[in-house]
Amino acid sequence: MADTTLMSIPGQVDPVPVARDITPRADGRVDLIGLPRPRIAELFAEAGLDPRQAKLRAKQVYHWLYHRGATSFEAMTDIAKAMRPWLAERFVIGRPDVVEAQHSSDGTRKWLLSTADGHEFEMVFIPDADRGTLCVSSQVGCTLNCRFCHTGTMRLVRNLTPGEIVGQVMLARDALGEWPRGRMDVAEVEDEAEYTADGRLLTNIVMMGMGEPLYNFDNVRDALRLVMDGDGLALSKRRITLSTSGVVSMMARCGEEIGVNLAVSLHAVTKDVRDEIVPLNRKYGIEELLAACAAYPGASNARRITFEYVMLKDKNDSDEDARELVRLLRKFDLPAKVNLIPFNPWPGAPYECSSPERIRRFSDIVFEAGISAPVRTPRGRDIDAACGQLKTTAQKMSRAQRDREAQAAAGREAAEAAPSPAAAP
Ligand code: SAH
Ligand code: SF4
Repeated sequence: MADTTLMSIPGQVDPVPVARDITPRADGRVDLIGLPRPRIAELFAEAGLDPRQAKLRAKQVYHWLYHRGATSFEAMTDIAKAMRPWLAERFVIGRPDVVEAQHSSDGTRKWLLSTADGHEFEMVFIPDADRGTLCVSSQVGCTLNCRFCHTGTMRLVRNLTPGEIVGQVMLARDALGEWPRGRMDVAEVEDEAEYTADGRLLTNIVMMGMGEPLYNFDNVRDALRLVMDGDGLALSKRRITLSTSGVVSMMARCGEEIGVNLAVSLHAVTKDVRDEIVPLNRKYGIEELLAACAAYPGASNARRITFEYVMLKDKNDSDEDARELVRLLRKFDLPAKVNLIPFNPWPGAPYECSSPERIRRFSDIVFEAGISAPVRTPRGRDIDAACGQLKTTAQKMSRAQRDREAQAAAGREAAEAAPSPAAAP
């Protein structure tokens, strides 16, 4: 089990168990993934290296871990041969466990992952002609219960650690074979552009998987810093988007301390409807939310805020809603683009998706007011990988359970095929 402590998080939610930066392991070794360079140096010093050595080794190891994707100390060729077993005895290089990997007919890939203490969460990769987007989870479950979201029907199990968050991106690079090659000694002069250049599959990250990233702010920030660091995964902050359901109290810090693009799950333009479908609206209302967007550090016409709007039949999709949306965005003078998301159904969902004609009309009204309003094409619906379809735990069987059931079924078939002793003449 992860060692957890209770931390209160902002908003109308109960305190949640939060894993510490280092999850203790049964074998006593420490997983380095998720830790920043100074913390690695500290651990090396605690393990017995003198401070200068610790700092130097931490710099090398950091580069191998996050920039090169090394999964063993043995691969770290510029570290003295004798030193490598010393590291391996004390430290590990972790990745989330892959429970199941699925491929959609449209190329979308979904991974069911597990933390070391057995909690399952999901990550999705969406390839497009000009980019490849990894949709990363920040929590196992979510506290916020948006009524149209499948994840919202799960209870929150816990926040993911920085290692479990950055570990998703690292795992995706492993799976796509996309770690930069090259020699350690030329690292200093390598062009950063090389690592985000076209020709790579994974070019963008969206914090739009399971969970509310701003309710796990510190861990999301620490993980994204490793992703954005030029000597880390070296992905530009312009290629990272964090989506929030509207945690106003954390938005300014998100801009200042992380600085990524912001997407806001608006979904409704009246208090009644938003209170119903995004219950957090009862705490932070629409006007307060839009004012926080207007003040978001770094937002500009070149870096617009994306407003996500899920299209729910007869709920939020009228011409009047579209016009009110335009009025609100203008009132707050927001550098905005609107992303219309056709509702992705899940079993027992209390809503239906608006008709394609309705969505088109809504989009036209917003567009005619000079605000871009593309309709997002649902991806990976056949493997439940589309927005809002991510859900793990109870209702879904764990792999062990699936194996057991498969075995039992095989046993039953074998028993049925064989003549039973009782029936034998
Ligand atoms: N918790 C964050 C990020 C994860 S959800 C947030 O709410 O913004 C990512 C996006 O998927 C959000 O805009 C969310 O509202 C949307 N979404 C959730 N359920 C959906 C569904 N069933 N169909 C379409 N979009 C959905
Ligand atoms: Fe949580 Fe986002 Fe789903 Fe709302 S839409 S329940 S905030 S994951």
